[in-house]
Amino acid sequence: MNRRQLLLGATMLASAPSRAFAQASTLSKAVRTAENMEPVVPRPEQDAAALRKLAELQTRAGRKPNIVWLLIDDMGWGDPGCYGGGAAIGAATPNIDRMAQEGLKLTSAYSQPTCTPTRSAILTGRLPVRTGLTRPILAGDKITRNPWADEVSLPRLLSGAGYTTVLSGKWHVGESVGMRPHDVGFDEYYGYYPAQKELSQSVDKRRYPDLVLNPERLAQLHETGASEALVHGFKGGATTDVQQVKSIEDIAEADRLLKEFTIKKIAELATAGKPFFLEHAFMKVHADNFASKEFEGKSGSKYPYKDAVVEVDAYIGEIVKALDDAKLLDNTLIFITSDNGPQMDSWPDSGYSPFKGAKTTPWEAGVRVPAIAYWKGVIKPGRQSDELFDLMDLFNTSLTLAGIGIDKLPGDRYYDGIDQTSFLLMDDGRSKREKVYIWAQADLMAMRMYEYKIHVKIVEAKAQWLWTDMSTITDVGLAPWLFNLYIDPKEEYPVGHRQNAWLASMAAEMKAHAATFKKYPPKNIGLAQ
Ligand code: CA
Repeated sequence: MNRRQLLLGATMLASAPSRAFAQASTLSKAVRTAENMEPVVPRPEQDAAALRKLAELQTRAGRKPNIVWLLIDDMGWGDPGCYGGGAAIGAATPNIDRMAQEGLKLTSAYSQPTCTPTRSAILTGRLPVRTGLTRPILAGDKITRNPWADEVSLPRLLSGAGYTTVLSGKWHVGESVGMRPHDVGFDEYYGYYPAQKELSQSVDKRRYPDLVLNPERLAQLHETGASEALVHGFKGGATTDVQQVKSIEDIAEADRLLKEFTIKKIAELATAGKPFFLEHAFMKVHADNFASKEFEGKSGSKYPYKDAVVEVDAYIGEIVKALDDAKLLDNTLIFITSDNGPQMDSWPDSGYSPFKGAKTTPWEAGVRVPAIAYWKGVIKPGRQSDELFDLMDLFNTSLTLAGIGIDKLPGDRYYDGIDQTSFLLMDDGRSKREKVYIWAQADLMAMRMYEYKIHVKIVEAKAQWLWTDMSTITDVGLAPWLFNLYIDPKEEYPVGHRQNAWLASMAAEMKAHAATFKKYPPKNIGLAQ
Protein backbone atom coordinates (compact mmCIF):
# COMPACT_ATOMS: atom_id res chain seq x y z
CA MET A 1 0.00 0.00 0.00
CA ASN A 2 1.48 3.34 -0.95
CA ARG A 3 1.20 6.58 0.94
CA ARG A 4 -1.60 7.92 -1.20
CA GLN A 5 -3.67 4.81 -0.56
CA LEU A 6 -3.01 5.10 3.18
CA LEU A 7 -4.15 8.68 3.07
CA LEU A 8 -7.31 7.77 1.23
CA GLY A 9 -7.95 5.00 3.72
CA ALA A 10 -7.62 7.43 6.59
CA THR A 11 -10.06 9.91 5.18
CA MET A 12 -12.71 7.74 3.56
CA LEU A 13 -14.91 6.57 6.38
CA ALA A 14 -16.88 4.20 4.19
CA SER A 15 -13.84 2.16 3.30
CA ALA A 16 -13.13 0.90 6.82
CA PRO A 17 -11.36 -2.45 6.85
CA SER A 18 -12.97 -5.54 8.36
CA ARG A 19 -10.20 -5.79 10.97
CA ALA A 20 -11.26 -2.36 12.21
CA PHE A 21 -10.58 -2.90 15.89
CA ALA A 22 -7.27 -4.70 15.69
CA GLN A 23 -4.26 -2.71 16.84
CA ALA A 24 -3.39 -0.43 14.02
CA SER A 25 0.36 0.04 13.95
CA THR A 26 3.76 -0.96 15.25
CA LEU A 27 4.22 2.47 16.85
CA SER A 28 1.19 2.03 19.10
CA LYS A 29 1.25 0.81 22.68
CA ALA A 30 -2.42 1.51 23.29
CA VAL A 31 -4.93 -1.25 23.92
CA ARG A 32 -8.62 -1.14 23.17
CA THR A 33 -10.42 -2.42 26.26
CA ALA A 34 -13.89 -2.20 24.71
CA GLU A 35 -15.09 -1.81 21.17
CA ASN A 36 -16.74 1.56 21.93
CA MET A 37 -13.91 3.03 24.02
CA GLU A 38 -10.78 4.90 22.93
CA PRO A 39 -7.69 2.66 23.29
CA VAL A 40 -5.48 3.43 26.31
CA VAL A 41 -1.84 2.94 27.17
CA PRO A 42 -2.24 0.37 29.98
CA ARG A 43 -0.89 1.49 33.35
CA PRO A 44 -2.51 -0.99 35.76
CA GLU A 45 -0.23 -0.35 38.73
CA GLN A 46 -0.56 3.42 38.43
CA ASP A 47 -4.36 3.09 38.17
CA ALA A 48 -4.55 0.82 41.20
CA ALA A 49 -2.42 3.22 43.25
CA ALA A 50 -4.63 6.16 42.26
CA LEU A 51 -7.77 4.29 43.29
CA ARG A 52 -6.19 3.51 46.67
CA LYS A 53 -5.28 7.18 47.05
CA LEU A 54 -8.86 8.23 46.22
CA ALA A 55 -10.32 5.71 48.67
CA GLU A 56 -8.08 7.00 51.47
CA LEU A 57 -9.07 10.57 50.67
CA GLN A 58 -12.74 9.72 50.71
CA THR A 59 -12.41 8.01 54.08
CA ARG A 60 -10.65 11.06 55.46
CA ALA A 61 -12.99 13.65 53.92
CA GLY A 62 -16.15 11.64 54.51
CA ARG A 63 -17.40 12.37 51.01
CA LYS A 64 -16.50 12.22 47.36
CA PRO A 65 -14.23 14.96 45.99
CA ASN A 66 -15.55 18.18 44.49
CA ILE A 67 -14.73 19.03 40.88
CA VAL A 68 -14.19 22.63 39.77
CA TRP A 69 -13.43 23.64 36.19
CA LEU A 70 -12.29 27.17 35.43
CA LEU A 71 -12.79 27.47 31.68
CA ILE A 72 -11.39 30.56 29.97
CA ASP A 73 -12.68 31.54 26.52
CA ASP A 74 -10.14 31.77 23.67
CA MET A 75 -7.02 32.17 25.82
CA GLY A 76 -3.86 31.19 23.96
CA TRP A 77 -1.29 28.63 25.10
CA GLY A 78 1.25 31.44 25.42
CA ASP A 79 -0.83 33.91 27.44
CA PRO A 80 -0.18 32.83 31.05
CA GLY A 81 3.19 33.67 32.55
CA CYS A 82 3.82 30.03 33.40
CA TYR A 83 3.61 29.23 29.67
CA GLY A 84 6.09 31.94 28.70
CA GLY A 85 3.68 34.90 28.45
CA GLY A 86 2.43 36.91 31.41
CA ALA A 87 4.23 40.16 32.19
CA ALA A 88 6.64 39.52 29.31
CA ILE A 89 3.73 40.13 26.90
CA GLY A 90 1.97 42.84 28.86
CA ALA A 91 -0.41 40.96 31.16
CA ALA A 92 0.88 39.37 34.35
CA THR A 93 -0.95 36.24 35.55
CA PRO A 94 0.31 35.64 39.11
CA ASN A 95 -2.69 33.54 40.17
CA ILE A 96 -2.61 31.13 37.22
CA ASP A 97 1.16 30.89 37.62
CA ARG A 98 0.83 30.03 41.31
CA MET A 99 -1.70 27.26 40.55
CA ALA A 100 0.79 25.82 38.06
CA GLN A 101 3.65 26.03 40.54
CA GLU A 102 1.57 24.32 43.20
CA GLY A 103 0.02 21.77 40.87
CA LEU A 104 0.52 20.00 37.54
CA LYS A 105 1.18 22.02 34.39
CA LEU A 106 0.29 20.18 31.20
CA THR A 107 2.10 21.43 28.11
CA SER A 108 0.42 19.15 25.55
CA ALA A 109 -3.27 19.46 26.42
CA TYR A 110 -5.70 19.70 23.51
CA SER A 111 -9.11 21.28 23.00
CA GLN A 112 -11.36 21.27 19.97
CA PRO A 113 -10.70 24.16 17.52
CA THR A 114 -13.73 26.26 18.62
CA CYS A 115 -16.05 26.99 21.55
CA THR A 116 -19.16 24.85 21.10
CA PRO A 117 -17.25 21.68 20.13
CA THR A 118 -15.02 21.84 23.21
CA ARG A 119 -17.83 22.74 25.58
CA SER A 120 -19.98 19.83 24.40
CA ALA A 121 -17.07 17.36 24.19
CA ILE A 122 -15.92 17.85 27.78
CA LEU A 123 -19.46 17.26 29.05
CA THR A 124 -20.07 14.14 26.94
CA GLY A 125 -16.62 12.55 26.54
CA ARG A 126 -17.38 12.38 22.83
CA LEU A 127 -16.05 14.11 19.74
CA PRO A 128 -18.35 16.83 18.37
CA VAL A 129 -18.75 14.90 15.11
CA ARG A 130 -20.31 12.08 17.16
CA THR A 131 -22.76 14.31 19.11
CA GLY A 132 -23.59 16.63 16.20
CA LEU A 133 -22.44 19.69 18.18
CA THR A 134 -19.81 20.67 15.65
CA ARG A 135 -20.49 24.41 15.84
CA PRO A 136 -22.75 26.85 17.70
CA ILE A 137 -26.46 26.45 17.10
CA LEU A 138 -27.48 29.90 15.94
CA ALA A 139 -30.88 31.50 16.19
CA GLY A 140 -31.62 31.06 12.48
CA ASP A 141 -30.56 27.40 12.30
CA LYS A 142 -33.25 24.85 11.52
CA ILE A 143 -31.89 21.82 13.30
CA THR A 144 -33.68 18.53 12.77
CA ARG A 145 -33.22 17.13 16.29
CA ASN A 146 -32.05 18.17 19.73
CA PRO A 147 -28.46 16.89 19.92
CA TRP A 148 -28.68 16.70 23.71
CA ALA A 149 -31.82 14.54 23.75
CA ASP A 150 -29.93 11.24 23.65
CA GLU A 151 -26.61 12.37 25.16
CA VAL A 152 -25.74 11.33 28.71
CA SER A 153 -24.02 14.41 30.10
CA LEU A 154 -21.45 14.55 32.87
CA PRO A 155 -23.65 16.67 35.18
CA ARG A 156 -26.47 14.16 34.72
CA LEU A 157 -24.18 11.27 35.67
CA LEU A 158 -22.72 13.20 38.61
CA SER A 159 -26.21 14.12 39.84
CA GLY A 160 -27.00 10.42 39.89
CA ALA A 161 -23.95 9.90 42.11
CA GLY A 162 -25.08 12.49 44.66
CA TYR A 163 -23.41 15.61 43.31
CA THR A 164 -24.83 19.12 43.12
CA THR A 165 -24.01 20.48 39.66
CA VAL A 166 -23.71 24.17 38.77
CA LEU A 167 -22.67 26.01 35.63
CA SER A 168 -21.74 29.66 36.07
CA GLY A 169 -20.95 31.58 32.90
CA LYS A 170 -20.93 31.13 29.17
CA TRP A 171 -22.82 28.20 27.67
CA HIS A 172 -22.92 28.48 23.84
CA VAL A 173 -24.23 24.95 23.31
CA GLY A 174 -27.88 25.68 22.49
CA GLU A 175 -30.34 28.06 24.11
CA SER A 176 -33.75 26.61 23.20
CA VAL A 177 -35.77 24.69 25.75
CA GLY A 178 -34.26 21.21 25.99
CA MET A 179 -30.72 22.42 25.23
CA ARG A 180 -30.06 24.83 28.08
CA PRO A 181 -27.58 23.85 30.81
CA HIS A 182 -30.34 23.15 33.33
CA ASP A 183 -32.15 21.01 30.73
CA VAL A 184 -29.13 18.80 30.03
CA GLY A 185 -28.11 17.93 33.58
CA PHE A 186 -26.98 20.96 35.59
CA ASP A 187 -29.01 21.67 38.73
CA GLU A 188 -28.47 25.39 38.38
CA TYR A 189 -27.32 27.78 35.67
CA TYR A 190 -26.30 31.41 36.00
CA GLY A 191 -24.77 32.98 32.94
CA TYR A 192 -24.98 34.13 29.36
CA TYR A 193 -25.80 31.80 26.47
CA PRO A 194 -23.69 33.53 23.76
CA ALA A 195 -20.11 34.76 23.36
CA GLN A 196 -19.16 38.36 24.11
CA LYS A 197 -19.03 39.31 20.42
CA GLU A 198 -22.65 38.26 19.97
CA LEU A 199 -23.61 40.65 22.75
CA SER A 200 -21.45 43.57 21.64
CA GLN A 201 -22.77 43.61 18.08
CA SER A 202 -26.04 45.20 19.26
CA VAL A 203 -24.47 47.84 21.49
CA ASP A 204 -21.03 48.80 20.17
CA LYS A 205 -21.56 51.49 17.55
CA ARG A 206 -17.81 51.84 17.00
CA ARG A 207 -17.35 48.28 15.79
CA TYR A 208 -20.81 47.61 14.36
CA PRO A 209 -22.18 50.97 13.15
CA ASP A 210 -24.10 49.28 10.31
CA LEU A 211 -26.19 47.46 12.92
CA VAL A 212 -26.26 49.71 15.95
CA LEU A 213 -26.94 52.94 14.04
CA ASN A 214 -29.52 51.41 11.71
CA PRO A 215 -32.77 50.83 13.65
CA GLU A 216 -34.26 48.58 10.95
CA ARG A 217 -31.22 46.29 10.84
CA LEU A 218 -30.99 46.19 14.62
CA ALA A 219 -34.65 45.22 14.83
CA GLN A 220 -34.02 42.45 12.30
CA LEU A 221 -31.14 41.19 14.42
CA HIS A 222 -33.31 41.11 17.53
CA GLU A 223 -36.05 39.26 15.64
CA THR A 224 -33.80 36.20 15.54
CA GLY A 225 -34.65 35.84 19.23
CA ALA A 226 -31.08 35.25 20.42
CA SER A 227 -30.71 35.80 24.16
CA GLU A 228 -28.86 38.92 25.28
CA ALA A 229 -29.48 38.44 28.98
CA LEU A 230 -27.88 37.19 32.15
CA VAL A 231 -30.01 34.10 32.78
CA HIS A 232 -30.70 32.19 35.99
CA GLY A 233 -32.28 28.77 35.61
CA PHE A 234 -32.97 25.68 37.69
CA LYS A 235 -33.38 22.06 36.64
CA GLY A 236 -37.11 21.42 36.38
CA GLY A 237 -37.79 24.95 37.63
CA ALA A 238 -37.99 28.55 36.55
CA THR A 239 -35.70 30.31 34.11
CA THR A 240 -35.51 34.07 34.54
CA ASP A 241 -33.64 36.89 32.85
CA VAL A 242 -31.71 38.63 35.62
CA GLN A 243 -30.42 41.50 33.51
CA GLN A 244 -30.56 42.50 29.85
CA VAL A 245 -27.26 43.45 28.27
CA LYS A 246 -27.89 47.00 27.04
CA SER A 247 -24.47 48.59 26.88
CA ILE A 248 -20.76 48.02 26.52
CA GLU A 249 -20.51 48.60 30.27
CA ASP A 250 -22.86 45.66 30.90
CA ILE A 251 -20.57 43.39 28.86
CA ALA A 252 -17.48 44.77 30.60
CA GLU A 253 -18.88 43.84 34.01
CA ALA A 254 -20.23 40.39 33.04
CA ASP A 255 -17.35 38.39 34.42
CA ARG A 256 -17.47 40.30 37.70
CA LEU A 257 -21.14 39.31 38.13
CA LEU A 258 -20.34 35.68 37.32
CA LYS A 259 -17.43 35.66 39.77
CA GLU A 260 -19.62 37.13 42.53
CA PHE A 261 -22.24 34.42 41.90
CA THR A 262 -19.64 31.65 41.95
CA ILE A 263 -18.07 32.83 45.19
CA LYS A 264 -21.47 33.07 46.89
CA LYS A 265 -22.38 29.63 45.53
CA ILE A 266 -19.15 28.07 46.85
CA ALA A 267 -20.03 29.25 50.38
CA GLU A 268 -23.48 27.64 50.02
CA LEU A 269 -22.15 24.41 48.54
CA ALA A 270 -19.59 24.10 51.33
CA THR A 271 -22.31 23.72 53.93
CA ALA A 272 -24.74 21.63 51.85
CA GLY A 273 -23.27 18.28 52.85
CA LYS A 274 -22.94 17.02 49.28
CA PRO A 275 -20.04 16.90 46.84
CA PHE A 276 -20.36 19.31 43.92
CA PHE A 277 -19.34 19.87 40.32
CA LEU A 278 -18.90 23.54 39.49
CA GLU A 279 -18.03 24.68 35.99
CA HIS A 280 -17.12 28.37 35.94
CA ALA A 281 -16.95 29.47 32.30
CA PHE A 282 -15.55 32.96 31.80
CA MET A 283 -16.93 35.27 29.12
CA LYS A 284 -13.50 36.84 28.71
CA VAL A 285 -11.09 36.70 26.94
CA HIS A 286 -13.20 36.07 23.82
CA ALA A 287 -13.48 39.14 21.59
CA ASP A 288 -14.93 41.69 22.01
CA ASN A 289 -13.18 42.51 25.28
CA PHE A 290 -14.10 45.65 27.19
CA ALA A 291 -12.20 46.45 30.34
CA SER A 292 -14.29 46.43 33.49
CA LYS A 293 -14.17 49.48 35.77
CA GLU A 294 -11.83 47.82 38.21
CA PHE A 295 -9.38 46.49 35.63
CA GLU A 296 -9.19 49.19 32.96
CA GLY A 297 -5.52 49.94 32.31
CA LYS A 298 -4.39 47.40 34.92
CA SER A 299 -2.30 45.36 32.49
CA GLY A 300 1.18 46.36 31.45
CA SER A 301 0.00 46.81 27.87
CA LYS A 302 -3.26 48.73 28.69
CA TYR A 303 -4.98 47.03 25.74
CA PRO A 304 -8.49 45.65 26.44
CA TYR A 305 -7.46 42.04 25.73
CA LYS A 306 -4.58 42.24 28.18
CA ASP A 307 -6.72 43.95 30.83
CA ALA A 308 -9.14 41.03 30.35
CA VAL A 309 -6.34 38.51 30.97
CA VAL A 310 -5.44 40.35 34.20
CA GLU A 311 -9.11 40.37 35.25
CA VAL A 312 -9.62 36.65 34.59
CA ASP A 313 -6.42 35.86 36.47
CA ALA A 314 -7.55 37.95 39.46
CA TYR A 315 -10.94 36.19 39.53
CA ILE A 316 -9.24 32.79 39.43
CA GLY A 317 -7.34 33.92 42.52
CA GLU A 318 -10.57 35.01 44.20
CA ILE A 319 -12.44 31.80 43.36
CA VAL A 320 -9.59 29.64 44.66
CA LYS A 321 -9.47 31.77 47.81
CA ALA A 322 -13.22 31.21 48.27
CA LEU A 323 -12.62 27.45 48.10
CA ASP A 324 -9.79 27.85 50.58
CA ASP A 325 -11.90 29.98 52.95
CA ALA A 326 -14.57 27.26 52.83
CA LYS A 327 -11.88 24.68 53.70
CA LEU A 328 -12.58 22.78 50.49
CA LEU A 329 -9.17 22.86 48.78
CA ASP A 330 -7.96 19.49 50.06
CA ASN A 331 -11.05 17.74 48.70
CA THR A 332 -11.38 19.53 45.35
CA LEU A 333 -9.77 18.98 41.97
CA ILE A 334 -9.43 22.33 40.23
CA PHE A 335 -8.75 22.29 36.50
CA ILE A 336 -7.90 25.54 34.69
CA THR A 337 -7.94 25.61 30.89
CA SER A 338 -9.08 27.40 27.73
CA ASP A 339 -11.73 26.12 25.31
CA ASN A 340 -9.55 26.79 22.22
CA GLY A 341 -6.64 28.87 21.03
CA PRO A 342 -6.46 32.58 20.24
CA GLN A 343 -8.85 34.12 17.72
CA MET A 344 -6.34 35.97 15.58
CA ASP A 345 -9.01 37.41 13.25
CA SER A 346 -9.89 39.93 15.97
CA TRP A 347 -6.31 41.14 16.57
CA PRO A 348 -5.27 43.06 18.62
CA ASP A 349 -8.19 41.73 20.68
CA SER A 350 -6.51 38.31 20.55
CA GLY A 351 -4.55 35.89 22.66
CA TYR A 352 -1.04 34.68 22.07
CA SER A 353 0.36 31.33 21.05
CA PRO A 354 3.94 30.61 20.03
CA PHE A 355 2.57 27.96 17.68
CA LYS A 356 1.24 28.12 14.12
CA GLY A 357 -2.36 28.97 13.25
CA ALA A 358 -5.21 30.14 15.46
CA LYS A 359 -8.65 29.23 16.77
CA THR A 360 -10.72 27.27 14.18
CA THR A 361 -7.63 25.61 12.69
CA PRO A 362 -6.06 22.20 13.36
CA TRP A 363 -2.63 23.82 13.69
CA GLU A 364 -1.17 23.76 17.19
CA ALA A 365 -2.22 27.33 18.11
CA GLY A 366 -5.84 26.38 17.49
CA VAL A 367 -6.05 23.34 19.72
CA ARG A 368 -3.12 23.27 22.15
CA VAL A 369 -4.23 25.09 25.27
CA PRO A 370 -2.96 25.92 28.76
CA ALA A 371 -4.13 23.30 31.26
CA ILE A 372 -3.37 23.15 34.97
CA ALA A 373 -4.57 20.56 37.48
CA TYR A 374 -4.45 21.58 41.13
CA TRP A 375 -5.46 19.63 44.21
CA LYS A 376 -3.95 20.71 47.51
CA GLY A 377 -2.17 17.86 49.25
CA VAL A 378 -2.99 15.42 46.44
CA ILE A 379 -1.25 16.63 43.28
CA LYS A 380 2.42 17.13 43.97
CA PRO A 381 3.42 20.80 43.55
CA GLY A 382 5.71 21.70 40.68
CA ARG A 383 4.81 18.83 38.39
CA GLN A 384 4.96 19.37 34.64
CA SER A 385 4.19 16.92 31.84
CA ASP A 386 4.34 17.04 28.07
CA GLU A 387 2.39 13.80 27.71
CA LEU A 388 -0.91 14.00 25.90
CA PHE A 389 -4.16 15.10 27.51
CA ASP A 390 -7.38 15.74 25.60
CA LEU A 391 -9.89 17.98 27.39
CA MET A 392 -12.46 15.23 26.71
CA ASP A 393 -10.49 13.19 29.25
CA LEU A 394 -12.04 15.44 31.92
CA PHE A 395 -15.30 13.54 31.35
CA ASN A 396 -13.91 10.09 32.12
CA THR A 397 -11.63 11.37 34.87
CA SER A 398 -14.57 13.06 36.61
CA LEU A 399 -16.53 9.80 36.49
CA THR A 400 -13.69 8.01 38.26
CA LEU A 401 -13.40 10.74 40.91
CA ALA A 402 -17.12 10.34 41.59
CA GLY A 403 -16.88 6.54 41.68
CA ILE A 404 -19.04 6.11 38.59
CA GLY A 405 -18.14 3.00 36.59
CA ILE A 406 -18.18 2.90 32.80
CA ASP A 407 -20.98 0.35 33.13
CA LYS A 408 -23.18 3.42 33.72
CA LEU A 409 -22.45 4.60 30.18
CA PRO A 410 -24.62 3.40 27.30
CA GLY A 411 -22.90 0.76 25.17
CA ASP A 412 -24.42 1.90 21.89
CA ARG A 413 -22.07 4.83 21.29
CA TYR A 414 -18.38 5.58 21.09
CA TYR A 415 -16.47 7.37 23.87
CA ASP A 416 -13.36 9.33 22.91
CA GLY A 417 -12.33 10.42 26.41
CA ILE A 418 -9.88 8.49 28.57
CA ASP A 419 -9.75 8.19 32.36
CA GLN A 420 -6.63 10.15 33.31
CA THR A 421 -7.13 10.10 37.10
CA SER A 422 -3.86 8.29 37.73
CA PHE A 423 -1.93 10.58 35.37
CA LEU A 424 -3.16 13.66 37.23
CA LEU A 425 -3.01 12.41 40.81
CA MET A 426 0.09 10.24 41.11
CA ASP A 427 3.44 11.97 41.77
CA ASP A 428 5.05 10.25 38.80
CA GLY A 429 1.83 9.78 36.83
CA ARG A 430 2.07 9.07 33.11
CA SER A 431 -0.59 9.76 30.49
CA LYS A 432 -2.75 6.91 29.24
CA ARG A 433 -3.46 8.78 26.02
CA GLU A 434 -1.37 8.06 22.97
CA LYS A 435 -3.19 10.03 20.30
CA VAL A 436 -5.25 13.18 19.92
CA TYR A 437 -7.51 13.40 16.86
CA ILE A 438 -8.12 16.86 15.50
CA TRP A 439 -11.37 17.51 13.70
CA ALA A 440 -12.78 20.69 12.19
CA GLN A 441 -16.55 20.28 12.09
CA ALA A 442 -17.11 17.15 9.95
CA ASP A 443 -13.53 16.86 8.67
CA LEU A 444 -10.81 14.73 10.23
CA MET A 445 -7.85 17.05 9.77
CA ALA A 446 -4.90 15.83 11.81
CA MET A 447 -3.66 13.59 14.59
CA ARG A 448 -0.96 13.99 17.22
CA MET A 449 0.77 10.82 18.43
CA TYR A 450 3.66 11.25 20.87
CA GLU A 451 5.72 14.18 19.52
CA TYR A 452 4.56 13.55 15.95
CA LYS A 453 1.67 15.20 14.17
CA ILE A 454 0.17 14.16 10.86
CA HIS A 455 -2.14 16.34 8.75
CA VAL A 456 -4.41 14.93 6.05
CA LYS A 457 -6.05 18.32 5.52
CA ILE A 458 -4.73 21.77 6.31
CA VAL A 459 -6.15 25.24 6.85
CA GLU A 460 -4.44 28.16 5.16
CA ALA A 461 -5.03 31.84 5.94
CA LYS A 462 -5.20 33.93 2.81
CA ALA A 463 -4.37 37.14 4.65
CA GLN A 464 -2.31 37.80 7.75
CA TRP A 465 -4.09 36.31 10.82
CA LEU A 466 -7.44 35.81 9.05
CA TRP A 467 -7.43 32.12 9.97
CA THR A 468 -11.23 32.01 10.10
CA ASP A 469 -12.67 34.76 7.96
CA MET A 470 -10.37 34.36 4.96
CA SER A 471 -9.06 30.83 5.03
CA THR A 472 -9.35 27.66 3.00
CA ILE A 473 -9.35 23.96 3.84
CA THR A 474 -7.09 22.01 1.50
CA ASP A 475 -6.28 18.35 1.03
CA VAL A 476 -2.58 17.62 1.33
CA GLY A 477 -0.74 16.29 -1.69
CA LEU A 478 0.88 12.93 -2.38
CA ALA A 479 1.55 12.18 1.27
CA PRO A 480 0.18 13.35 4.62
CA TRP A 481 2.23 16.12 6.19
CA LEU A 482 4.16 14.71 9.14
CA PHE A 483 5.77 17.07 11.64
CA ASN A 484 8.01 16.36 14.60
CA LEU A 485 6.80 18.91 17.15
CA TYR A 486 9.89 18.56 19.33
CA ILE A 487 12.20 19.85 16.62
CA ASP A 488 9.57 21.85 14.72
CA PRO A 489 6.92 23.13 17.16
CA LYS A 490 5.63 25.62 14.59
CA GLU A 491 4.81 22.88 12.02
CA GLU A 492 6.87 24.49 9.27
CA TYR A 493 8.88 21.64 7.76
CA PRO A 494 7.40 18.16 7.31
CA VAL A 495 9.73 15.21 7.93
CA GLY A 496 7.48 12.68 6.23
CA HIS A 497 9.82 11.41 3.55
CA ARG A 498 12.55 10.81 6.13
CA GLN A 499 10.29 9.10 8.69
CA ASN A 500 8.50 6.55 6.58
CA ALA A 501 8.00 4.04 9.37
CA TRP A 502 6.10 6.51 11.46
CA LEU A 503 4.20 7.94 8.51
CA ALA A 504 2.77 4.52 7.71
CA SER A 505 2.02 3.80 11.38
CA MET A 506 0.31 7.10 11.91
CA ALA A 507 -1.74 6.79 8.74
CA ALA A 508 -2.85 3.37 9.99
CA GLU A 509 -3.82 4.88 13.35
CA MET A 510 -5.95 7.52 11.61
CA LYS A 511 -7.55 4.80 9.56
CA ALA A 512 -8.42 2.84 12.70
CA HIS A 513 -9.94 5.98 14.21
CA ALA A 514 -11.95 6.61 11.05
CA ALA A 515 -13.15 3.00 11.22
CA THR A 516 -14.90 3.61 14.56
CA PHE A 517 -17.44 5.66 12.64
CA LYS A 518 -18.53 2.63 10.66
CA LYS A 519 -20.17 0.94 13.63
CA TYR A 520 -20.88 4.22 15.47
CA PRO A 521 -21.98 6.70 12.77
CA PRO A 522 -21.79 10.47 13.27
CA LYS A 523 -24.98 12.13 14.49
CA ASN A 524 -26.45 14.56 12.00
CA ILE A 525 -28.60 17.26 13.56
CA GLY A 526 -29.12 19.21 10.34
CA LEU A 527 -26.50 21.89 10.95
CA ALA A 528 -25.28 23.19 7.61
CA GLN A 529 -21.51 23.25 7.74
CA1 CA B 1 -13.75 29.80 22.65
